[in-house]
Amino acid sequence: MYRRLWFDLHATVLHAEHALTRADRPALILRDGPSPLLAGNGTPMLHASPPVPAAHIDSSTDNTNNTATDDAVDTGTTAVCATALARTVRLPLPSRSALTVEPIRDILRRGAHTGHAWFTVDIDAAGLRATTTRTVRDSAPPASATWRDALISHHRQGQYKGQTCPGYQVHGGAPARFRTEVMHQLLADTLCSHTPNRVVTTVFEGRKPWLVDDLGDRTPVTADADGWWPITHPGLRWTASLSAETDGPDPEPVFEPYGTDGAGLRCGVCGAIDEATYRELPSMAGFGDDTATTCTICGSAETTDPVFGLRADPKPWPPQPGAPSHGTGSRRPEPSA
Ligand SMILES: [Zn+2]
Repeated sequence: MYRRLWFDLHATVLHAEHALTRADRPALILRDGPSPLLAGNGTPMLHASPPVPAAHIDSSTDNTNNTATDDAVDTGTTAVCATALARTVRLPLPSRSALTVEPIRDILRRGAHTGHAWFTVDIDAAGLRATTTRTVRDSAPPASATWRDALISHHRQGQYKGQTCPGYQVHGGAPARFRTEVMHQLLADTLCSHTPNRVVTTVFEGRKPWLVDDLGDRTPVTADADGWWPITHPGLRWTASLSAETDGPDPEPVFEPYGTDGAGLRCGVCGAIDEATYRELPSMAGFGDDTATTCTICGSAETTDPVFGLRADPKPWPPQPGAPSHGTGSRRPEPSA
């Protein structure tokens, strides 16, 4: 029996990088208990970023090695696991340990560079068992999760304005939720008789909508307390593309400054840090420069020119199966400590 604690990777990296520059023996400090917290040991403490709370806590039973022993787990251990022993656990950043083949520092940096969203820590009564980074969590986002405006699409169903929740995955696709009008449009589209190979169709029963697949299985469509309609169905693997407001005066930039000094660059679409290429050319406008910043992981780009200013070109994330990959080619070496 062990617990898997899920921490936001980018918040964790902030604490780790701070500790690496501000501590003699840099480490992440895990305060375990019913509400686990993770923070770096840099001094002075990172005031701008509070300790990272575990967003999720999973309890797991090992079935890999020996189920007989697992069945025989003594109630003492189970009780300890269930109530989560209050204790402090040190995760050294620059050194290898019995747990990890490479330093946790490198695991965190690579995870962040490749667009992972989570740092997970497996822990049991005896102590740490494993640490790693993960792209997404297979579950519906909790009420506390942060949703972002996105274009939600499915190659057969169409494309809709809605929101997605980076870091989560539902039925193998991006989580998606919609405003009431868009939800009605989406349901109407499922009834379109000329749509080829419809994935689902909609029936109304007692004035409530249900999605019905070709096997006849029904999934209710209901609104959350906040008025958004999450639409999830095994047949609808949504792809989310964080939307660029092209019609507004202030397009949402793809990239944002990153790190305590703001010298880094984080891709707002996939979360990769310092994985962007930058190009600058004399502008076709005849004066000034055109610039292009492109994320090497997801391909999202941001361009500026002297006439139109900033233009954002976010790409779908996570990538569609079969879509060309942007991140598997040559990657710049990671910065050294
Ligand atoms: Zn990216």
